[in-house]
Amino acid sequence: MIAGKPNVLVAGAGVAGSLLARELAREGFSVALIDVATSYRKACGDAVALREGLLGLLERLGVVVTLVNSFEIRIHGDVVYEESFSKPKWAIVDKPGLVASLREEAEAEEALFLRGMWKSQRGTVTVDARGPYANKPESRVFVYRVISKARWDPGKALLDFDLKSRGFYWIFPADDDGKTVNIGAGFETVDAATYLREMVKNYSYKLLGTFEPLDERGAPVTVKGPIVTREGDILKVGEAAGLVVSTAGEGNRPAILSAMSLAKAINSSYPNLREIEERYRSGISRVISEVLVSRKLLEVIEKAGPARGKTLMKSLPESFWRLYLGSAVTTRHVVLTMLRRPITGLRLIRSLLSSLA
Ligand SMILES: Cc1cc2nc3c(=O)[nH]c(=O)nc-3n(C[C@H](O)[C@H](O)[C@H](O)COP(=O)(O)OP(=O)(O)OC[C@H]3O[C@@H](n4cnc5c(N)ncnc54)[C@H](O)[C@@H]3O)c2cc1C
Repeated sequence: MIAGKPNVLVAGAGVAGSLLARELAREGFSVALIDVATSYRKACGDAVALREGLLGLLERLGVVVTLVNSFEIRIHGDVVYEESFSKPKWAIVDKPGLVASLREEAEAEEALFLRGMWKSQRGTVTVDARGPYANKPESRVFVYRVISKARWDPGKALLDFDLKSRGFYWIFPADDDGKTVNIGAGFETVDAATYLREMVKNYSYKLLGTFEPLDERGAPVTVKGPIVTREGDILKVGEAAGLVVSTAGEGNRPAILSAMSLAKAINSSYPNLREIEERYRSGISRVISEVLVSRKLLEVIEKAGPARGKTLMKSLPESFWRLYLGSAVTTRHVVLTMLRRPITGLRLIRSLLSSLA
């Protein structure tokens, strides 16, 4: 029970919810944070794209496991792009540690943490931060990940797209000394955990020559559907708002950035919901553009079918993959990049432009 109505009630204490609660409690708001789980253990690839100065925040919280600057992109096993950047593009983080630190800091600022299922209780302002669980099942894909013993470059990430199953495998480092990996996969056509696990296991044997799980679990991720930042009197943040870059399953950075933007908007426009939402959206306009483009790209590739989709993806220029890994695939960037490859890009550009109309 919440004694008295809090200024802000946040449903879901994952990355977005905990960070939002911390930021608002710091500003003196009375904040209540509700989560079904006492500790955060949701499956993740644990990668955070290092844009917008996020490394500083992660380092301050002491959750950086290793930095990734080397990438390999494959399509049906064929290497289409390889690059080592002079600066890291991603951090692999201790995600449960990240959420625990944010929750602790929120509580230290006197945010009230309540364990339990959100049952539509309200604050003066209410925020849905329930991640994928806030979204319709048809907008989600089930994803499975395994932490496994294996030799692997701790600075390298691999993504392998499968156009037939409509998704990808990944291998990310899980430590900084090259002894464990985070290996996983998610496909639109596969929702049975046991089957997906078998696919990950086979992939692990094929690529790494071993499969020695230390921890394994699955969870859904939102890859379809609209971006919804407010539903009636409830504001939405992070993955609950649909903020996942679908082509990469990237939701950590959007969760952090949207929580920061919403905290600022609430702080400056409380309790005017319309004004809060406007400020909030304008603070994340770039993330919104990335997510919309990723949804469109996914649609275009799916419409093309496995064979043409594969050809289309294989013909993407290196500059596209650079933007992709740097989390910079906004509409403007894609159009500019594709204009340099008129034949392969024509279809994509037409479709993207029509999505902007
Ligand atoms: C297997 C897998 C791998 C992934 N890999 C990556 C990756 O490498 N990089 C990346 O950027 N993204 C990745 N993602 C996506 C990323 O994990 C999410 O998008 C991100 O965690 C979203 O953060 P969030 O705070 O919005 O939601 P979440 O982290 O999902 O937090 C939601 C919180 O709400 C709570 N909750 C849910 N329902 C209720 C309820 N009814 N009442 C109260 N509390 C509730 C949950 O317990 C949870 O604590 C991956 C996702 C999966 C499933």
